[in-house]
Amino acid sequence: MEKQKAIITGGSRGIGLAIIKKLLEDNYEVWYLSRTEVEENLGPFIHHIKTDVSDKENLVESLNTAVKEAKVVDLLVNNAGITRDGLLMRMSDENWDDVITVNLTSAFITCRALSRTLLKQKHGAIVNISSVVGVSGNAGQANYSASKAGLIGLTKSLAKEFASRGIRVNAVAPGFIETSMTEKLSDAQKEAIVAQIPLKKLGSAEMVADTVRFLASSASQYITGQVICVDGGMVI
Ligand code: NAD
Repeated sequence: MEKQKAIITGGSRGIGLAIIKKLLEDNYEVWYLSRTEVEENLGPFIHHIKTDVSDKENLVESLNTAVKEAKVVDLLVNNAGITRDGLLMRMSDENWDDVITVNLTSAFITCRALSRTLLKQKHGAIVNISSVVGVSGNAGQANYSASKAGLIGLTKSLAKEFASRGIRVNAVAPGFIETSMTEKLSDAQKEAIVAQIPLKKLGSAEMVADTVRFLASSASQYITGQVICVDGGMVI
C-alpha cells in the first residue's frame, strides 16, 4: 500500500511525538519540523527537519524541503506550542509576542505555504492543535488562550475556504494532558484540576493523538471546521 505523507510542527516530544507514532502505525511517512530530534529510533519513514517555527524564513524553507521530498501532502498537523503564563497586568510584550508567534502565526505560515500544493492536489487534511482554554479562556493565560482561540478562527475560515477542493480542516482542543507542558504543576494543583474534570483524570498524549488519527482518516470524511475537545468533559 502506498504511504500517506504527513508534515507536523514540533513533534520531538509530548503530544506531537504521540501523533507521529500513531501516524507511523497508520502507514504514514512523516516529516517533523522541530528544533530537536527525537532520541529513539522510529524507523526509516520519519524525517527530521531542524526548524524554529518562530523564524518565518526558516519555517518556509523547511516546508519547501518537506514538500520537495514528500511530493504529496496528505496531512498537515500544526502542533508546536509554548506557554508564557502570567496575569495580564504584568504580561510583557515579549511574552505576548512569543506565544502568538509560535502558536498562531506559525500555523498561518504553514497553511499558506502548503495551500498551493493542497489545493492543486485536491485532497488532504489539516489538524490544528488548539486547547480548551481557546474555547473557555483562562485567568493567567491571556496570551495562550488568545493564540489558541485564534487557531480555532483560522481552522473554521480555512475549512470554508478549502472545502470545495476536498480539503478538510479541523482543530483538536486538549484539556489537561500529562506532558512536559503540564509537569510544572504541583500535585495539589493537579488534584484541584482533576476535581473539575467529569471523567476524574488527566488525559494522555496518546488520547489526543487518537483524535488526530481519526481526523486525518477517511473515518472523518464528512467532518470539517470542527473543534473536538479531548478534555474528559472539562468544557461542556
Ligand atoms: P511540549 O512542550 O511537550 O511540546 C511542545 C512541542 O512544540 C515540542 O515538540 C516543541 O519542540 C515544539 N516547539 C515549541 N516551540 C517551538 C519552536 N519555536 N520551533 C519548533 N518547535 C517548537 O507540549 P505538548 O503538551 O506536547 O504540546 C503540544 C501542543 O498541544 C501544543 O500546541 C500545546 O499548546 C497543545 N496543548 C497541550 C496541552 C497539555 O495539557 N499538555 C493542553 C492543550 C493544548
